Amino acid sequence: MDVKRIQPDAGLAERLMNDLALLAEPSFKEYKTTEYIVAFLKKTGITPSHIFETGCYGTLDFGAEKTVAFRSDIDALPANPDKTEYKHLCGHHHNMTALLLLLEAVQRSEVKPKVNIRYIFQPAEEIVSGAKFMIEKGCLDGVDCIFAAHAENEIPMGKLGVKSGPCMAGSHHIALTFTGKATHAAMPHLGNDVITAAADYITKAQMIVSRLKDPILPGLISFGSIHGGSADNIIPDKLELKGTFRYFHSEVKDTIEKGMESLASGIEELYGVKIEIDIKDGTHPVMNDPALAAFICDIADENSLPRVPFDKASLGGEDFSEYVRLVKGVFVWTGANEHGNHPPLHSGDFYVPTPTVVASADMWIKLAYSIDRYFG
Ligand SMILES: [Zn+2]
Ligand SMILES: [Zn+2]
Repeated sequence: MDVKRIQPDAGLAERLMNDLALLAEPSFKEYKTTEYIVAFLKKTGITPSHIFETGCYGTLDFGAEKTVAFRSDIDALPANPDKTEYKHLCGHHHNMTALLLLLEAVQRSEVKPKVNIRYIFQPAEEIVSGAKFMIEKGCLDGVDCIFAAHAENEIPMGKLGVKSGPCMAGSHHIALTFTGKATHAAMPHLGNDVITAAADYITKAQMIVSRLKDPILPGLISFGSIHGGSADNIIPDKLELKGTFRYFHSEVKDTIEKGMESLASGIEELYGVKIEIDIKDGTHPVMNDPALAAFICDIADENSLPRVPFDKASLGGEDFSEYVRLVKGVFVWTGANEHGNHPPLHSGDFYVPTPTVVASADMWIKLAYSIDRYFG
C-alpha cells in the first residue's frame, strides 16, 4: 500500500480549526472542548477508554506489538487582562485538529498502521500541570514512544522543523523575600536596606549565568516582578522579587540553584538583610530523541513533506517534557509563518493558517504508517 495515498481531509481541517477556536477555554476548564473531541471521535467510531472532566485518552488497538502515542494539549490563553475571553494564542486548536485528522484518516482507511495508536488530549499545558495529571491517569502505560506537534511563527507556513536533542528549556520559578529593617531614606545606616540589596542581587544574578556556568551551555535568569515600599522617603522592611530560570542541562540547573543560594548569603552578610528563596519546579527540558528525530526527517523526505533545517532550541517551557522523561519522543514544529512577519506565539494576533494544520496531520499520518520500520 502506498502510504502517500492516505491524506488528511483539508475541508475537515478548516471546520475543526474553526469550531475549536470558538470553544477556547482556560486550563483544566476545557469542558466544551473535551465534549467536542469525544463527540467527534465517537462519530468516527472511536470511544476513548479514559474520559476525564477535561481531557481524554485511548488507543486504536491493532494488535501490534508496539504502541505509539500522539499528544495534543487542549487549553487556551486569556485574550484580555481581566480574563473574560480566551483564545488559542498558542495554537492548541492546531494540535488538536492535527491529531483528530490523523485518527479520522486511520479510521477512514482500510489499511491500518502496524503499531497501536495511543491518542492523548491533555488539558492544562499552559499552567504546566496537565501532562503530570494524564501520566498519573496512566496515559503512558504500554507506550513505546511519543510525539507532539506545535505551530511555530518563525517557520514558513506548512514546513516542518524537527530539532534533534534540546528543544524546549527546563523552566523553574524563583521567589525571593528580602526582609530588613525599615528606616528613613535619609538615614540608611540606621536600617537594613532591602531595596539596594535586591538591586544588587538582581544585577549579580546575571553573573551566575555569565561567570559560573560553562558558557557553551545555555542558561538564563530573568526577574519579572518586584514589589516593595510605599513612599519615596522610607526604606521598607520587606521586598518581594519573582523570576524564572531556564536551562537544558542538569549541571546548569545545579549551578544556577547553588549560585542563587550563595549570592543570597553574600548579600545577606553585606546588607544585614534576610533572604528567603523559594524555587518551584515548572517544566523539565524537552529533549528530542536524536534517532527518532532523524527518522521523522527521513519519513518527511520520503513523502515529499517540506521541512526546513531547524536547529534552534527555545527557552520557552513545555510540559511535553514530562512524557519524554519517561519514554523517547519528539516535539515537532510546523510553520505558521504566512507572510514573513507572523505574530509570535502567545501574542494577541497569533493565528494558525489551515495549511499548517494540514501539514501537521499529513506528517502524523505518514509517521503512523511508517513508524513500525523504526522498531525494525
Ligand atoms: Zn503556550
Ligand atoms: Zn503551546
